[in-house]
Amino acid sequence: RSKEDGRGVFRFYTAELRAAASFGVQLEEDLRDALEKGELSMAYQPLVDPLDNRAKCFEALMRWDHPQRGRISPAAFIPIAERSDLILHLGEWALRQACKDAEQWPDDVRVAVNVSARQFMQANMPKLVASALSSSGIKASRLTLEVTESVFIGGVEAVDEIFARLDRLGVRLAMDDFGTGYSSLGYLKRAPFKKIKIDQSFVRGCTESGDTNPAIISAVVALARALKMETVAEGVEAMDELELVTQRGANLVQGYIYSPPLEQHKILENFAKAEWIFKPDGPPRHRAD
Ligand code: C2E
Ligand code: MG
Ligand code: MG
Ligand code: MG
Repeated sequence: RSKEDGRGVFRFYTAELRAAASFGVQLEEDLRDALEKGELSMAYQPLVDPLDNRAKCFEALMRWDHPQRGRISPAAFIPIAERSDLILHLGEWALRQACKDAEQWPDDVRVAVNVSARQFMQANMPKLVASALSSSGIKASRLTLEVTESVFIGGVEAVDEIFARLDRLGVRLAMDDFGTGYSSLGYLKRAPFKKIKIDQSFVRGCTESGDTNPAIISAVVALARALKMETVAEGVEAMDELELVTQRGANLVQGYIYSPPLEQHKILENFAKAEWIFKPDGPPRHRAD
């Protein structure tokens, strides 16, 4: 009897696995058509200077509204896109769309675009960036490219060359999700990063007593300062978290405490009302997300 049960469980398990795999394949197929069907869009979340509550930059975050499954998180579909060259098409579209949208914002507000490692390593990447800049008309210094530590996995020389070309173009580079991936202290020194983004996992709940995260936040801020880089605390949701990361010296804050990602029309409305000041007062005032 127990043997039978065991076999039943096993069958159920493989069926589950098969279902999960075919779900991924189906999603990948749907994602191939998502661009031309107009199901993808960009949302923008402010990076706020906690000293004056002004948005200095907005991070561009991709959104997919699937006709049957509803909104799917980029944490789910970006890894699927990264399995093939699909990520290159999505990435190019995101970069061009974000630059185009930023052109309509005030001149001193920057835009940050996530670039996947696979796209970053393409030999034509700097050319693509230059093309997105010139067709949108925004200055190179207004564009930040966010990369994660995974760009360093593919070999140092190739990556150095791409960093150097992007630096010459005048765009800024930020290290995203710092501390969660491949160890990169040596690379931090040689790559021309302007910004280090402290991952949400070090920020969330960082005020609980006995938590070691405040020590990590202080250490990253000190490291960034020594290297003449700025720090961004990601995923700040609560007032005590905001106070802690500000007190520990984070230059910019990104998180629901200020605002969730917003649609372009909402951003334009805010700018029209001179509302690029986001006050950390209770629940987010806009919920485009
Ligand atoms: P990321 O680049 O680290 O982006 C920050 C993520 O944290 C976003 O999730 C944002 O919505 C979320 N977030 C911001 N504040 C808070 C907060 O206070 N609390 C919580 N719980 N979350 C917060 P999102 O939009 O779901 O994106 C997930 C990841 O997908 C991004 O992480 C990035 O790695 C990737 N991604 C998104 N858009 C793109 C894109 O256009 N290209 C590429 N290559 N990757 C993208
Ligand atoms: Mg990012
Ligand atoms: Mg991040
Ligand atoms: Mg992340």
